[in-house]
Amino acid sequence: MNILVINAGSSSLKYQLLNPDTGDLLAKGLCERIGIDGKFTYKPQIEGKETLSAVDVAMPTHAEAIQAVLDALVDAKNGVIGSMQEIDAVGHRVVHGGEAFNQSVVITDEVLKAIEDCIPLAPLHNPANLTGIRACQKVMPGVPMVAVFDTAFHQTMPAKAYMYALPYAYYETDKVRRYGFHGTSHKYVSGRAAAMLGKKPEELKLVSCHLGNGSSIAAVDCGKSVDTSMGFTPLAGLPMGTRSGDLDAGILQYLMNKYGMGIDEMLNVLNKKSGVEGLSGVSSDFRDLENAAAEGNQRALLAEEKFAYEVKKYVGAYAAAMGGVDAIIFTAGVGENDKGIRAMVCQGLEYMGVKLDAEANNVRGKECVISTADSKVKILLIPTNEELMIAKDTAALTQK
Ligand code: ADP
Repeated sequence: MNILVINAGSSSLKYQLLNPDTGDLLAKGLCERIGIDGKFTYKPQIEGKETLSAVDVAMPTHAEAIQAVLDALVDAKNGVIGSMQEIDAVGHRVVHGGEAFNQSVVITDEVLKAIEDCIPLAPLHNPANLTGIRACQKVMPGVPMVAVFDTAFHQTMPAKAYMYALPYAYYETDKVRRYGFHGTSHKYVSGRAAAMLGKKPEELKLVSCHLGNGSSIAAVDCGKSVDTSMGFTPLAGLPMGTRSGDLDAGILQYLMNKYGMGIDEMLNVLNKKSGVEGLSGVSSDFRDLENAAAEGNQRALLAEEKFAYEVKKYVGAYAAAMGGVDAIIFTAGVGENDKGIRAMVCQGLEYMGVKLDAEANNVRGKECVISTADSKVKILLIPTNEELMIAKDTAALTQK
């Protein structure tokens, strides 16, 4: 069985063709500058097949982009499948499912309407995701399609976790609440954690730390998300590459008045000029921070310390929320690769039974246990694979 996974943005589209049962990747790539000049990248994963890197392909709309993907996949010389019939279904990443979706769904007209209804909650992302779905339906009529939502996994949160202490009408009328994001990643790594520990998800209390360019943490109790650090938007929670994370809303009034900024300009500062980049003045990339800190740059060190300190506080908070924790998971770009950040997060948590094994922690991007044998709380490094999770959900919903 082969599943095509599509992650459509407003002018770009990432794709992977993979086998959901074995996890084998057949090909992946990227269409960029859709509606502009069209650049197409194709990376077949089979020996002897040639890669295409940012070649010119006319893509006035997403439909031509998807056609280019299909043409490459079935190409006589460099293709990885014989015909389109070998694509059993398509899984689409959709950012926001609001309260309408607590799991992945087969796409129907009603589902498309419900995704449209969530546009006010994700005005940049959902329209692009919908464009990708409609383009696929046009080019691949009759092929079953599934929507997989970033928010769905967190729909199990109890009201005390997802409600803000605002006038209740803002929830009832305007749907203002915590939704949480990165759900596909948190779901995937918590499933892998159970497998690694030889336990059922229902037996585990997990703190899942997705630390990348965007970062979020989830408390996963008995296989269900019970709290998460991102909120109504992905701006909340941890400081990130360029996003501020949580802050005192009073700061907005103070800075906007002082500098005559409008709300859009203020939000641009919080989304694009803050986080570890804003704090360090060096970079949003943790590799650059590490190098600068090693050369004595104090603000780069401060940015790393601030980030790790906030992660550590969430670990403590979520242990309290769940009444314990069996394992801490590190995933995504920083979580998988940055042993220094992992060490800073775990340092000082020994009192709650968290003991990092310094030698085992000297590893990158490999699924493994990095706590000591006597650590009460296991520490796990698990590379995330959102595409595989999307492919598995898609297969499960479309298999006869
Ligand atoms: P996204 O949120 O865009 O999916 P990723 O999960 O791919 O991001 O994470 C990207 C980030 O991971 C980079 O910005 C960088 O900070 C960090 N990163 C990647 N490789 C390393 C590394 N070897 N050491 C430290 N940090 C790394």
